[in-house]
Formats: sequence, C-alpha cells, structure tokens
Amino acid sequence: MHPFAYLAPTTVKEAVDVLTEYGDKARPLAGGTDLLVKARANVWDLDAVVDVKNIPELNEINFDSDGLTIGASVACCHIYENEKICNEYEGIVDGASIIGGIQIQSRAGLGGNLCNAAPSADGICPLIVNHAVATIEGPNGTREVSVDDFCTGPSRTILENGELLVSIFLPKPKENFGSAYTRFIPRNEMDIAVAAVAASVKLSSDKNTIEEAKIALASVGPTPIVAKEAAESLIGKTVSDEAIDKAASLAKDAATPITDMRGTVEQRKHLVEVLTRRMITKAIERARG
Ligand SMILES: Cc1cc2nc3c(=O)[nH]c(=O)nc-3n(C[C@H](O)[C@H](O)[C@H](O)COP(=O)(O)OP(=O)(O)OC[C@H]3O[C@@H](n4cnc5c(N)ncnc54)[C@H](O)[C@@H]3O)c2cc1C
Repeated sequence: MHPFAYLAPTTVKEAVDVLTEYGDKARPLAGGTDLLVKARANVWDLDAVVDVKNIPELNEINFDSDGLTIGASVACCHIYENEKICNEYEGIVDGASIIGGIQIQSRAGLGGNLCNAAPSADGICPLIVNHAVATIEGPNGTREVSVDDFCTGPSRTILENGELLVSIFLPKPKENFGSAYTRFIPRNEMDIAVAAVAASVKLSSDKNTIEEAKIALASVGPTPIVAKEAAESLIGKTVSDEAIDKAASLAKDAATPITDMRGTVEQRKHLVEVLTRRMITKAIERARG
C-alpha cells in the first residue's frame, strides 16, 4: 500500500483546508470500512487520509422542530440504538441495522455509506424515501444537496475536491407517514444486495388514501434509482392491492440492472417487483401505526 499521511483535524474548516490542499490525493476517513478496503486495493493514489471522526458536528445526532440531523460520521449503532430515531424513522433504521455485522455497524455510518456511493449501499435508498438532504462544506462555503441527486455513478458523487459531507438532514415525518427498506441477499447477513427497495407513504387523516409516496431502488442500476412514476401512480389512490401491484410493476420497469455473479437481469427485475410490493405494504402498516 502506498504510504500516506494520517491527519486528524478537529474542526470542519481545518478538514476542508487540508482536503483542499491535497485535492484528489486525500480522502476523508469516517469509519474506514470502505476506505481501508479500497486503500489497500490501491484504488486511489493517496498522499493523505483525513480522519473526520474528531470533528464534533460530524458526530452529533440532533433533533429540532424541523427534523433530525445526523452527523456524517455517526456510526450505525448509534442510529439504531436511539429510541427516538427508531420510533420516527423506521426505514432509516431498517438500512442502518443491516450494514455489515455488529463490528462494522460500530464504526461505519450513513455518511460514509452515502459518500462511497455503491449501487448496493443499504443506507442510501432509505435516506432518499425520507427526503434527506446532505449538508456539504467546501472551500467555497456550504451547500445543501438532496440525497436523490448525490450519487452520480458507482463510487462517484457530486462532491468536489476539498468538499466534506458534514451531516444529513431528515425532515420531521408528517402525520401518518411510514417508511421501510429491505434487500434480497442469498445469505442471512454480511452480503451485498442482489436487489433492494425502500418505500415511504403519507396517508390521509382517515389512513385510507395515499397522499404522498416515494420509492427508491438499490443494486439495479449504476446509482440508487428514484422510481418516480411508480411512486406517482400511488398518489391519490385508496390503499388497495391493485394500486400497490401497479406501483410495483412500474418500479420493475424503472430498474436497469445488469447480469453479474450475484444475479441476472430477470431475477433482479422480478425481485424489485416483489420487494416494492412488500415495502409499500410495510410503509402503509407503519403509517397506520
Ligand atoms: C465486512 C463488510 C461488510 C459490509 N457490509 C455492508 C452492507 O451490508 N451494506 C452496505 O451498504 N455496505 C456494507 N459495507 C460497506 C461499508 O461498511 C459501508 O458502506 C459503510 O457505511 C461505510 O461507512 P464508513 O463510515 O466506514 O465510511 P468510510 O470507509 O470511512 O468512507 C467511505 C467513503 O466515503 C468517504 N467519506 C467518508 N466520510 C466522508 C465525509 N464526511 N465527507 C466526504 N467523504 C467522506 C471516504 O473518503 C470514502 O471514500 C461492508 C463493508 C465491510 C468491510
């Protein structure tokens, strides 16, 4: 492995300064569960690794009247061990609690999962259906980007050299809102999704009509896919098997998988349809309380 400097700034500004100085020769290090694997494989030609775990803003979980802010380095275990997050953001917990095993979850966070931008990432689709927004700090200041638009290709994101993901904001769930995420893997755990689906719904006050919906797909395209038409087909519909089946079929059409060692195009498309049906149903159950 190419030798590199280990830097551990304690403020966002310091981190941005060193990331800017090193340009594409530096990478932020959060839990390191992707970074170390890639560094050992010489995926990058690194001169510096910038440990961002010592920066307070990146390690905080904050609730306010608008919603929840999760620091980019908060480990998954701190997310699913937080009672309020478990109660209010069930789909987020679905994702955070299946990333690797307990050892991985004690280091790895949703920030690293998002910035690593794997098409199979278990954290990203739940963020999308919960309307998450990324707060990014860079040499030109702060910007906010919807997580829908964050990933641009496998291992590629909208982050520019010198930019640091500081936190992820999740708006406060509306009344009668529910979200859910699941993946298909051939084993029980510690595997990469063959296909995965997140869904969210917001129901009317009588809990029978779908007023808002969002569906996101993982492992069936180069980036997480927002299945817009599928979600829109649910809006204004009374909760019914027919409406759910229609959305699941449209989600299947939105998937653009490849055949590889983990699954074929046909299997993955079929999985998307089945998992979408299940996740919409689960999101509705959760929205009904
Ligand atoms: C054994 C094993 C099992 C795994 N199982 C799963 C799984 O089931 N599901 C899954 O989705 N993933 C899995 N992973 C991959 C990995 O654990 C996750 O993607 C994890 O969420 C990454 O988080 P991290 O904090 O470790 O990120 P890191 O490895 O620290 O960083 C990942 C990437 O993001 C960049 N980065 C980190 N923080 C920032 C920041 N604040 N700003 C800008 N860029 C940043 C890094 O430079 C790096 O490129 C597994 C990995 C291992 C080793």
